[in-house]
Amino acid sequence: MSLAPLRRIAFRLPAAAARFKREGGGGRAASSSVVANCDRSECPLKSEALSAERFLFSCPSCRRLIDHPEMSSFTCFAVFGIGRDFDVDTKALKKEMKTLQTALHPDKFAMLDDVEQTSLAESWSSLVNDSYNRLLRPLERAQYLLELQGQPLAEGEIQIEPGFLAEVMEVNEEVAEAESPADLSGISEANKAVLKSYVAKVSKAFREGRIRDAKVLVARMKYFNTIQDKIVEKETAFGMVG
Ligand SMILES: [Zn+2]
Repeated sequence: MSLAPLRRIAFRLPAAAARFKREGGGGRAASSSVVANCDRSECPLKSEALSAERFLFSCPSCRRLIDHPEMSSFTCFAVFGIGRDFDVDTKALKKEMKTLQTALHPDKFAMLDDVEQTSLAESWSSLVNDSYNRLLRPLERAQYLLELQGQPLAEGEIQIEPGFLAEVMEVNEEVAEAESPADLSGISEANKAVLKSYVAKVSKAFREGRIRDAKVLVARMKYFNTIQDKIVEKETAFGMVG
């Protein structure tokens, strides 16, 4: 299944997304921006502008999926009805993901023999999946927030000082030379602690509106994220996971 066209539409958003800026942390979307119509002829809400405090997948009356004219302008945060903040309750996000996946599962609609609704279910499912993946992990979420701020992190944009690179190289060598699960778990714990401290710093930078600082931190965090990927790869090879 190709998600590329949808992703291109769904995430080409800074200008439109700005309208969705939330008031405060767990705030709500500007309700006037989220408007759609139910197109079911016998629905009591037919042709009534449905405005909602969050992304609206289906008609509140007849549950028919809505073909939203402004689908392309929703941020990943709006899809999940949460504030546009770096700090995300990932447990709640996972729970909501499961609920939406069930509600929007294309097979449910395919059984109704309704081509249009099935196709909408597919679009919404893809949007939910893409949004979830961009919000779940701190690094991707931070990069996405930078994009929304009109400050995407470009390759090579942030100068990384030699001392930092030497430190990263050292950890990389430790990972490469690890010969046992015991060697590796020590390195993994240490690296996870480093990542955790970066998450805290990035969070603070975003909260305080220090976007440039957030960007520098994210550029560095990427290195430790890559190390963690390599650790997981090697853990898999050692039979420690999966
Ligand atoms: Zn309806």
